[in-house]
Amino acid sequence: MGKAENTPEVIDILAVDDEQVNLLLLTGLLRREGVNVVTARSGYEALKLTEKHDFALILLDVMMPGLDGFTTAERFRADERTCHIPIIFITAISKEQRHIFKGYEAGAVDYLIKPFEHEILKNKVQVFVDMYRQRLAVQRAGEVLAKTVTELRASSRALSDSRARYQSLFTSMFNGFALLSHDQGRAVDLAQARIVEINPAMEQMLARPREALMDHLLGEILPNLEGYLRDFAAEVARSGKSGLIESYLGDIKRWLRIQAYVPGAGLLALVAEDITARRKAEETIQERTFQDPLTGLANRALFMDRLDQSMERSRRRLNYLYAVLFLDLDNFKPINSSLGHAAGDKVLRAVAEKIKNVARGLDTVARCGADEFALILEELKNPGEALRVARRICKELAQPMDVDGHSLHFSASVGVVLGPADYAQPEELLQDAGIAMEQARALGGGKVKVFKWAMRTRAQYALNVNQSMHHALERQQFRLHYQPIFNLADNTLAGFEALIRWQVEDRLVPPDDFIPYAEQTGLIVPIGQWALAESCEKTAAWAERFRLPRNFTMAVNLSAKQFAQPDLVRQLTRALEENHLDPQHLKLEITETMVMQNPENVVHKLRGLREMGVKVSIDDFGTGYSSLSYLRRFPISTLKVDRSFVSDLDAFENLIIVRTIVSLAHNLGFDVVAEGIETERQRDFLADLKCEYGQGYLFSRPLTEEKTLELLSVCCPKTPAGS
Ligand code: C2E
Ligand code: MG
Ligand code: MG
Repeated sequence: MGKAENTPEVIDILAVDDEQVNLLLLTGLLRREGVNVVTARSGYEALKLTEKHDFALILLDVMMPGLDGFTTAERFRADERTCHIPIIFITAISKEQRHIFKGYEAGAVDYLIKPFEHEILKNKVQVFVDMYRQRLAVQRAGEVLAKTVTELRASSRALSDSRARYQSLFTSMFNGFALLSHDQGRAVDLAQARIVEINPAMEQMLARPREALMDHLLGEILPNLEGYLRDFAAEVARSGKSGLIESYLGDIKRWLRIQAYVPGAGLLALVAEDITARRKAEETIQERTFQDPLTGLANRALFMDRLDQSMERSRRRLNYLYAVLFLDLDNFKPINSSLGHAAGDKVLRAVAEKIKNVARGLDTVARCGADEFALILEELKNPGEALRVARRICKELAQPMDVDGHSLHFSASVGVVLGPADYAQPEELLQDAGIAMEQARALGGGKVKVFKWAMRTRAQYALNVNQSMHHALERQQFRLHYQPIFNLADNTLAGFEALIRWQVEDRLVPPDDFIPYAEQTGLIVPIGQWALAESCEKTAAWAERFRLPRNFTMAVNLSAKQFAQPDLVRQLTRALEENHLDPQHLKLEITETMVMQNPENVVHKLRGLREMGVKVSIDDFGTGYSSLSYLRRFPISTLKVDRSFVSDLDAFENLIIVRTIVSLAHNLGFDVVAEGIETERQRDFLADLKCEYGQGYLFSRPLTEEKTLELLSVCCPKTPAGS
């Protein structure tokens, strides 16, 4: 038995015959496209085959051993799965009526008596195959129909389910929903769109009941719709593409995240999420990140960002002028310590307010440090405008402000950088503004300085100097040179002035190149202490070794900071005691300005020094502002006439000044040292004035220790030469 594949197109028919030849004949006759002949050699086999397969037709031999054709047909008829299959009996037995009837009883549809006409068999079979095909088609259509019906039922259920779901979502969702209808023809104006559907969440957002919203124009409900929101809606309606926007609606005081889309012609749907809380949180974070919490001004980070933008603008726009001001309060620091931090905070807030009032809306005002403020002035008409703003700020700050019952007024040092300048980074620009500010402060505060490139080299130098000066003391890089001072009356040695140098590798750095920076950083204090101790030690050693004149003095320069040290007297006492040095050999040189800054304190200190037996001389006299009569109050011993007067005695004015200084000093009981004597004429003139002492290149330059010893051994040998 063989069976071809049972595809819908191929129709199976079953041929049952005990004779293999007959089966081969039938198969050969009926084989053609779309028909597959399945064969069985007995009634049993046929019954078995029909258990699994459906056949369009059974060709059944009557005379078979075992189950004959009639019995097999009866069995087919008895089974409901096979009862419908048409049967054609093929038999060699007679055409007798008896047989035929038996065959019909058994369910035969037709009879073919062997030998039969092949064409007749083919036609009959074709009829049944066609019928079967039609039946199959009907059956399939029925199945499809049934399937469609079930599907339809299912989808209608799903539809009503989803409608219910959507309904509940629509009413219970947190997002607001509004469906708007608009006039299709024109450009859509959100304000003119009419609400045709709305959900409870949106009602809540708009703070109105459904009745007050439905069928109303959106513009009636939100009269202050932002222009950009209307543009957004118009664009969504025009393009048909959905869009998303975050907008603040002033009418309802909420931030909404709105999605808009076009659900159909003439319609616009809005889905809104209330993001007010998130926005507020973001704003707080933003404020914390970019705002100075004390003054509410921009902080350094924001300032830098804005500065970057200004620089970018100036790169793109021809002739774009802007300026950066860096401002430092000159006298803020003592406020915190004297009036407390709360008062300090009030001052800073008031200062911030004053600066803000001077600045224009488009400018950026920031607080960059404790008492440091910075401004970006945008869109300047000319550079002079920046200076005017800077001066106005200074003027405003000078106006007294009332803080906790104290009337305070401040001055500020302001550095200005005018843009556009060739900077890559905003940090560099601010740094230069800071350098200019330092220069302004060095002028005594309350001043405005515009940055120049030369300042940067100076500042760079200061930085280098400060960094390397730190180690100079421990590395013992400082040296003292000693410049002799002579009695002008007889040209004998009266003493020395100790002058410091800094040995950097094989170079000697002069004091003017590092002392001012050491003053700024405070390093001058330990440096000065070293110079003082060193001078005392050397003088004591020389006093041992040489026969120093009775009034011999070692003059040591003191810086303002050193002089201001509260324990100055103690430091001196120690230096003298440690070296067993007679205090009368020590003379401290201080400047006029140091004396004038805090006269009460100074008088007190000077008295202490005098009690110790240490002398004090006023250095560089004539360059400051002190009046001679004022000096009467100070217990000092010497005035040193500044080199600038001595060097140009040809100028009549200087001649008068020197003469006046000498005679008034004598009247007050001071002696006088003239500095910078370079010519004999100068020496003679001063000697004629009875100026006691002279110092200058005419006599000697400052000497190394070695050379000093040589000089001392010539001028002050212990045992007179030759004896
Ligand atoms: P100063 O105290 O007025 O010292 C006198 C300065 O004039 C010295 O410069 C000296 O070399 C110079 N000088 C003396 N005679 C002549 C002259 O005939 N012609 C010219 N052109 N110059 C003359 P130096 O050594 O460069 O010191 C400069 C300044 O540095 C000193 O001025 C002093 O203010 C300061 N200084 C020096 N050593 C120390 C120190 O140990 N401590 C402090 N705080 N300052 C010091
Ligand atoms: Mg001096
Ligand atoms: Mg001097």
